Amino acid sequence: MNEYEELRKYIFKYYGEPLTEEEVKTWHKIIYESKKMKRKSINDSDKIKFYKETIDRVLREHKDLVFINRCSICNILARTPFSIRCRNGHKKDEGVWVDPL
Ligand SMILES: [Zn+2]
Repeated sequence: MNEYEELRKYIFKYYGEPLTEEEVKTWHKIIYESKKMKRKSINDSDKIKFYKETIDRVLREHKDLVFINRCSICNILARTPFSIRCRNGHKKDEGVWVDPL
């Protein structure tokens, strides 16, 4: 999974609250269609556009709510807003990322 996909997962999983009704509907439709292997009513470029616009909007309009838990050593997004270990093994010690080695 690339960094953008990680961010997409992170935002939709932990910060779904600011999503509009319309965005939730579109999102559920994308997931439903991908699981059912149904004929897609939302094509890939619309899907990418939807995710990009939604993520941009949430980050812009809900700066106070969204905490991007990014490791300051490797600059990679942690799996959750509460993670104290990044995907490269760095640790957060009293709010500061440190290299345990
Ligand atoms: Zn790190």
